[in-house]
Amino acid sequence: MLDLPEYWRSLPGEAEAKRRHAPPAAYTAQWLLPVGAAVLGVVLLGAGAMAAGLVLLVCAAGLGLWMSRQSSIAEEARALWERSLICLQCPATFPREDAVTA
Ligand SMILES: [Zn+2]
Repeated sequence: MLDLPEYWRSLPGEAEAKRRHAPPAAYTAQWLLPVGAAVLGVVLLGAGAMAAGLVLLVCAAGLGLWMSRQSSIAEEARALWERSLICLQCPATFPREDAVTA
């Protein structure tokens, strides 16, 4: 039984296991998109285009929430990978807390 991140870092770059056990990708949120939409929404509201402004603000809020959710899901997956162990008898990986209770 080995620490998964440690095992993964010790593998040569071309190893098949290196790809199989790679850490989950980080999510890069494009915050400029919802921020830009919100700014545009406020500008439209100021210019008297109420309906268009409100639609943009709602979209900006929804997009912002969705992005922050995606980013926390990705963070969680990476944190789980960080504290995982790998069984060297079989290719199974599991979180450290499961190993303690097993
Ligand atoms: Zn095993």
